[in-house]
Amino acid sequence: MVTGPSRASEKCVFCDIVARRSPAWIIYEDEGTMAFLDIFPFTRGHLLVIPKHHGARLTDLPFEQQTALVRSLDEVCRRVERLTDDYNVALNAGARAGQIVFHVHFHVIPRYGESNPFRATSRPPLTELEARTLVAELAGD
Ligand code: AMP
Ligand code: ZN
Repeated sequence: MVTGPSRASEKCVFCDIVARRSPAWIIYEDEGTMAFLDIFPFTRGHLLVIPKHHGARLTDLPFEQQTALVRSLDEVCRRVERLTDDYNVALNAGARAGQIVFHVHFHVIPRYGESNPFRATSRPPLTELEARTLVAELAGD
C-alpha cells in the first residue's frame, strides 16, 4: 500500500510521482521503492532513490522500509557504475541541511572529474533528449 503525506493539504511532489499523478524519468522500481532522474541534475545521470511510503526523513521510516531503500540504493549505484565508477551518495535531512522536498530521498550523483558541482550557481533543467538517453542506459538489467 502506498501512503501519502499525513494531511491532504500537505502536497508531496514525490508522492505524486509514486501515484503517477506527476511524470518522472523512472530508471528503477520495485514494490517499496523507486528511482528517477533529478530534473535539475548536478551532473549527468543525477538520480533520486525514494521509498514509496511517505516519510520526511530516514528516521521516520520503519526498519523494513529503510532496509528496502538501501537495497534499492545499492541497485541504483550498480546502474550508475555503467556511467562512471565515481559518484556521491547524499541525503539531506532538514531545511538547514538543504532539504527542499520533505519525502526522504538519497541523491546519487555521478562524478566525471568536474570541480565541485554542489556549488553551481545554476542547475540547467534536464532535457528530454538527455533523459531519454539516460533511461536507455540505466533502466533495465
Ligand atoms: P533536496 O534538496 O535534498 O530536498 O533535493 C530535492 C531534489 O529533488 C532536488 O535536487 C530537485 O532538483 C529534485 N526535484 C524536485 N522536484 C522534482 C521532480 N518533480 N522530479 C525529479 N526531481 C525533482
Ligand atoms: Zn511524499
